[in-house]
Amino acid sequence: MAVSPKQRHIAYRCPDCGEATVGLVGRFALSANMVRLKCSCSSESSLDMNISGDGKIRLSVPCLFCRQNHSYVVSEGLFFEKDRFFLSCPYSGMDIAFIGDEDNVSADLSRTADELSALMKNLEAEELSDIQPQDMTEGEILPDPAVYDTLRFVVKDLEAEGKLHCPCGNGPYDLRFTDGGMQVWCESCGATYDFKATSPTVAEEYLSLDSLTLK
Ligand SMILES: [Zn+2]
Ligand SMILES: [Zn+2]
Ligand SMILES: [Zn+2]
Repeated sequence: MAVSPKQRHIAYRCPDCGEATVGLVGRFALSANMVRLKCSCSSESSLDMNISGDGKIRLSVPCLFCRQNHSYVVSEGLFFEKDRFFLSCPYSGMDIAFIGDEDNVSADLSRTADELSALMKNLEAEELSDIQPQDMTEGEILPDPAVYDTLRFVVKDLEAEGKLHCPCGNGPYDLRFTDGGMQVWCESCGATYDFKATSPTVAEEYLSLDSLTLK
């Protein structure tokens, strides 16, 4: 088995100034404390992360598209061993945090900077705030983010262990909200599985799944 790197780069974009903040997170620092990555502008937006005893990393990431933080749970193995992965906004589907080695993170930051300017141009937006929701209270129009967090963890965990199956067997897999909960789908063959979960408690019952087959 390869020795896993003990450090990972992580980046997010500040919802207020739009600038990217990149940090280096070490396994030891994370075991000892909560790690906070802060934008240098006056908004004081911050990405917070900590690790729990069961080896799960909890992250709270500012979302450029919703102007609120989203929370995620990622396994320690995934966080420190994958060279490149993203956390995406459950509502817009846009990537809001970039984790991996330095080269991948900086490449993804420039790729998404281009995507962002293209998006703003399409929407004829002059400032970031033009594409962000105004005066929206949490829970007003959005489904419960905790349901997404839990089911995303279920899917990523099964996928990492090779226990997520679909007809093509390739993935990648993604999640989307449905009326009755969420659906995981294979981007290659289109197979799906519906999670019937509209509350976090029901979503947590899926944590005990041993495997999952998309049809
Ligand atoms: Zn900022
Ligand atoms: Zn968002
Ligand atoms: Zn497939």
